[in-house]
Amino acid sequence: MNAQTSSRPVAIVTGASRGIGAAIAERLASDGFNVVVNYAGSSAEAEALVGKIEQAGGHAIAAQADVSDAAAVERMFDAAEAAFGGVDVLVNNAGIMKLAPLADSDDALFDSQIAINLKGTFNTLRQAARRLRNGGRIINLSTSVVGLKLENYAVYAATKAAVETLTAILSKEVRGRSITVNAVAPGPTATALFLNGKSPELIERMSKMNPLERLGTPDDIASAVAFLAGPDGSWINGQVLRANGGMV
Ligand code: NAP
Repeated sequence: MNAQTSSRPVAIVTGASRGIGAAIAERLASDGFNVVVNYAGSSAEAEALVGKIEQAGGHAIAAQADVSDAAAVERMFDAAEAAFGGVDVLVNNAGIMKLAPLADSDDALFDSQIAINLKGTFNTLRQAARRLRNGGRIINLSTSVVGLKLENYAVYAATKAAVETLTAILSKEVRGRSITVNAVAPGPTATALFLNGKSPELIERMSKMNPLERLGTPDDIASAVAFLAGPDGSWINGQVLRANGGMV
C-alpha cells in the first residue's frame, strides 16, 4: 500500500466478476475507490476486471470468497484491510436466481437461494457492522420483483424481501457511526442471470414492462449504487431505491 492508495476510500463489491457487480466495481474504481472484486468461481473474469481497472489508473484486488461461507467472508474482509487499510463501502451484489412455481420448487432451489442471497448477505453485513469505518456506506442488491410479485419468483423474491428487511434494521443498528444502509432494487437487467433460460419473446415482453421500453443495463444499476456510495447520497438511509425505468 502506498500513500496514494491508502488515502482513497475502499469498497468491497461481492459478485463482481461479471454482470451488474462488474459494472459497479468499475464505476466505483473510476469514482476513486480502491475496489475489492469478489467472486466465487470466475477467477479469470475477476482478474481481467482488476487488470482493466488498473489500466485505467484505478486500484483493485480480486478476492475469492463464496459469500455463503462465513469464514470465507471474514477472510475477504481481512484481505481488504491488509491490501488497503480498511473498508468504507460494502456492496452486496452476489446473488443467484432460480425460477419455478412453488409446487415445482425442490429443496435445492430453496436452500441455494437462501444460502447465497440471504445467508450470504447476512455474512457480509455482520462483518461490515463490526468493521466498516465511520462514515461508510452499505448497498444491498434487492429486486423490483419484491414489488411486482410475479409468478415463479416466490423463493427468489422472498430472499430479497428479507434483504430489504435486513437493510432497514441495520441502518438503525449502526446509529452514531455516520454509516448509511440502503438497497437498490433493479428491474430486468441485461445479464446472464436475467437472460439465461428465457425465450426471445419473453425477454422482449419483459423489456416493455416499463414505460421506457428497454431492459436495464449493468451501468444503469451501477449509477444508482454510485449515487448511494458517493457524496450526493449521504442523506439517503434505510431506503430501497427501485432502479427499473418505472416498472413498479
Ligand atoms: P450474474 O450476471 O449472474 O452475476 C452474478 C455474480 O455473482 C457473479 O459475479 C458471480 O460470480 C457472483 N456469485 C454468485 N454466487 C456467488 C457466491 N456464492 N459468492 C460470491 N459470488 C457469487 O447476476 P447479475 O444479474 O449481475 O445480478 C447481480 C445482483 O443483482 C444479484 O443479487 C441479483 O439478484 C440482482 N438483480 C439482478 C437483476 C437482473 O435482471 N439481472 C434484477 C434484479 C436484481 P462467479 O461467476 O464467480 O460465481
